[in-house]
Amino acid sequence: MAATKILIVEDEAAIREMIVFHLLRAGFDTVEAENCRSARELLVDERPQLALVDWMLPDMSGLELTRMLRRDSNNEDLAIIMLTARADEYDKVSGLESGADDYITKPFSPRELIARIQTVLRRTRSTDSATLDAGDISLDTAGHRVTSAGIEVHLGPTEYRLLQFLMTHPDRVYSRSQLLDRVWGANVYVEERTVDVHVRRLRKALSPTGTDAYVQTVRGAGYRFSTRDS
Ligand code: CA
Repeated sequence: MAATKILIVEDEAAIREMIVFHLLRAGFDTVEAENCRSARELLVDERPQLALVDWMLPDMSGLELTRMLRRDSNNEDLAIIMLTARADEYDKVSGLESGADDYITKPFSPRELIARIQTVLRRTRSTDSATLDAGDISLDTAGHRVTSAGIEVHLGPTEYRLLQFLMTHPDRVYSRSQLLDRVWGANVYVEERTVDVHVRRLRKALSPTGTDAYVQTVRGAGYRFSTRDS
């Protein structure tokens, strides 16, 4: 099997080289970009599985780049980890809301970097497996069956797709319009409040077993699937 390819988007050559050195040693393949423009070209040409995106870049912030990448369905399977020198809570939240899968605060140890990369890759790859498990919910993609606390849950097709999407992207906040794009499809015209209707139905179906708490409302931002408390 080919090595997992990681794109490093970082304008500081010394940091980039340090990261490349450790990633190669850990058996990954690497491609490097020193700005967002070159990163976007490499994403098309090299199809990396994961991007490490620095927060501060010369032509666009890493946050804006991440948002832009998430709006493009060609990057559906791309995992993104933000590198940030700013550790305060606000940045952590906005980083994850932009669509990053995780973030690492500088300075970080090579060991921490590799561990985070492996965790994120494991999580994003669970898309391929036939059964998705999160807390008490189990979703069998082959059989289209959902169980919650061992009890079968009957969902409409939209609720099923919504749950499957949320379970494959846990702990990440999606706005109503992002959910419309990803679950309903980018070219379908439906009003944003449609999302609320289906979220309500999904919660209702899960509520007898208490797993409706995994489908969380993030005020002013959208929805998130998480087995942790909101
Ligand atoms: Ca930088």
